[in-house]
Amino acid sequence: MGLPPQLSTEERNAALLKAKHSRQVRAAVKNRIKAGELSLAEVFKESESDSIVAKMRVADLLASITGVGKVRASALMERLSISPTRRLQGLGKHQIAALIAELDPSSKRGKLIVLSGPGGVGKSTIAAYIRKNKTFWVSVSSTTRKPRPNEKNGVDYFFLTDEEFDDEISRNHFLEWAHFAGARYGTPREAVEKVLSSGANVLLEIEIEGAKQVKAYSPEAILVFLEPPSWEELVSRLERRATDSEQRRAERLALAQEELAAASFFDHCLVNDQVENVVQKLLSLASAR
Ligand code: 5GP
Repeated sequence: MGLPPQLSTEERNAALLKAKHSRQVRAAVKNRIKAGELSLAEVFKESESDSIVAKMRVADLLASITGVGKVRASALMERLSISPTRRLQGLGKHQIAALIAELDPSSKRGKLIVLSGPGGVGKSTIAAYIRKNKTFWVSVSSTTRKPRPNEKNGVDYFFLTDEEFDDEISRNHFLEWAHFAGARYGTPREAVEKVLSSGANVLLEIEIEGAKQVKAYSPEAILVFLEPPSWEELVSRLERRATDSEQRRAERLALAQEELAAASFFDHCLVNDQVENVVQKLLSLASAR
């Protein structure tokens, strides 16, 4: 290893002055972005010609944006595969575009609404209604379970083999995935990201473990727990489900009981009294923030 360079007093003073100047420039950028005088896009533009700005840490810059803070900044960076110590000059152009799309108030990103709740509560009826009426764009999940007689590949689900599902996991193609009643279910990431970036709202109709993963991945997602009007109502809905075997129905009932206990994790709870009511409430939640 070489020895550190020997600096004269003048050189050391000059270096200290330079470092102080750099700190002042970076602090000024952060203050201006905090005050809303600079947009994220403008800072990235400045970093192309100003080496001091180019050397700012991405994490510091993002955390200084009002309403973002350290926690959301680090969750977002992890999601976009940006290392915690990265500087602006080290960002790729897709990462810059994704950061601007997500954080600049002027760029409109769609809302991610997650509808969850116990199996048999009626989530899929709500999702079907929303899909038909185009209230929100509804994601089509992948699953390893076998298709039911009326289900179509690519419409109700993408029906995958276990090997295909494993492959999707290893390629990081799922935004979330979970086991449910002997099968695996996952949300394809790319389609959802594309729709959100276009400014449209997305609905995921998924079980509870998956909903928790979405919250970790995207803290701004709106998590909605759908409750049955009563436990008796849920039991009778599950019993009316002719497509399930006796054993599968019993498993689903036991699971539903556990799932009801998870309601407190969610941002909102809605009672599934009538489809139109629930959809109306989802719409007002999506436009409220
Ligand atoms: P089913 O087999 O009755 O269509 O769905 C079983 C459960 O899987 C339902 O609770 C449904 O919401 C959930 N589900 C469907 N797609 C996904 C998904 O992509 N991810 C997760 N985590 N759950 C899903």
